[in-house]
Amino acid sequence: MWNTKRYDIIVVGAGPAGSTFARIAASKGLSVLLLERKTRIGVPVRCGEGVIDSGLRLFYEPCPEWIATTIDKFCFIAPNGSSIAVKLQEKGYILNRNVFDSDLAKFAEKEGATVVTNANVNSLLFENDKVAGVKGICNNEPFEITSKLVIGADGVESRIGRFAGINTKINLNNIDSGYQKTISGIDVDRNVCSFYISNELAPGGYIWIFPKGNDSANIGIGISGKAHINGKSAKTRLDEFLDLKYPKHKVESISVGGIPLSKPIKQMVTDSVMLIGDAARTVNPLSGGGIILGMKSAVKAADVAVKILISDKEPTKINLIDYQKQWMNSEGKQINRIYRIKTAVDKLTDKDLNNIIERVNKLPVEKRSLARIFRACIPQKPSLLFDVAKVFVGY
Ligand SMILES: Cc1cc2nc3c(=O)[nH]c(=O)nc-3n(C[C@H](O)[C@H](O)[C@H](O)COP(=O)(O)OP(=O)(O)OC[C@H]3O[C@@H](n4cnc5c(N)ncnc54)[C@H](O)[C@@H]3O)c2cc1C
Repeated sequence: MWNTKRYDIIVVGAGPAGSTFARIAASKGLSVLLLERKTRIGVPVRCGEGVIDSGLRLFYEPCPEWIATTIDKFCFIAPNGSSIAVKLQEKGYILNRNVFDSDLAKFAEKEGATVVTNANVNSLLFENDKVAGVKGICNNEPFEITSKLVIGADGVESRIGRFAGINTKINLNNIDSGYQKTISGIDVDRNVCSFYISNELAPGGYIWIFPKGNDSANIGIGISGKAHINGKSAKTRLDEFLDLKYPKHKVESISVGGIPLSKPIKQMVTDSVMLIGDAARTVNPLSGGGIILGMKSAVKAADVAVKILISDKEPTKINLIDYQKQWMNSEGKQINRIYRIKTAVDKLTDKDLNNIIERVNKLPVEKRSLARIFRACIPQKPSLLFDVAKVFVGY
């Protein structure tokens, strides 16, 4: 029985980060329990589902069933309706995350991890003031399970970090309210992702149209938490946009969720606990993309955890801190840079945005690139050019 054993590691949350961690740790011979509160892993989807091919390939060979559409162009639409299309240097995908997330958990299971759904972790288990496992409810039955290490892969609303005494609070300015509808019956180019960038439409964020094939798309909005409180909600804004642009659309599903657009969390580990993925704010603060970064954090955390547990060392904060150090010296540094760019971009007015699109439109098509657009965003802040260049080299 899964709930009577003691494990080396309990992973809470079977999103891309949790399942990737569980797969790696189990493949090294550690006993791993992956707990997911949903009944079906990956359902409902709460994501625009966009990823870049090279990012995905760092971890998995893309499976045809994971891919709804292949993307070769981005289109940016200014507040005044003018637009620019940019050909991507490499292809992107809009995933079927229900299939993707479920397959990643199956890969973990294949490597020997025990995967349990309907298992909601509601607190940590302490022994002599030390984290010693988790408590929760599965199919109305309470459970208590012990382990040497607990991984908080429980997404943006992570409670594992908080239970373990880590400050996971996030400033309202640094969290976007995300609201998305998957709609069908619309005419949409299946290979182009569109972004409406306008403070009037989406203050502190943007509206995205990510095609899913068969005349359907994920259309969503992210607005800053502050804008949400002081003005129209993300839902009202998206509904107005959809009624205007696609009056005959049919709603297939709705997803709502916070998108952390912050600097990395200050503390990613404590005694017997590590945070990965959204729980550790491993999200690009400009785009809101977190699938690939979440899996990158999982790989780094798993490498450190495996080394410690296999050599019979205690998973103390001091022993686990290498994960945090490695992150902060690589992707964490990148996230800090992108955060600085986001702060500059947040200050652009709708007039600035119109000017930028106009300026980029004057460039020959072959010279338009994402880096050029961002360069055009910050003519008054040349110091940020350096950061922008690094961001685009790294991603
Ligand atoms: C509207 C929206 C659009 C987005 N679009 C994109 C995009 O296009 N591209 C991109 O890269 N990123 C996007 N993101 C971000 C992306 O979804 C996340 O960064 C990514 O899912 C993070 O993966 P994760 O494994 O850390 O967490 P999650 O995918 O959130 O997985 C966490 C899992 O933990 C489970 N869980 C939580 N609490 C418990 C508990 N107590 N007990 C047991 N299980 C628990 C949850 O049910 C969930 O399955 C978007 C986010 C939103 C909200």
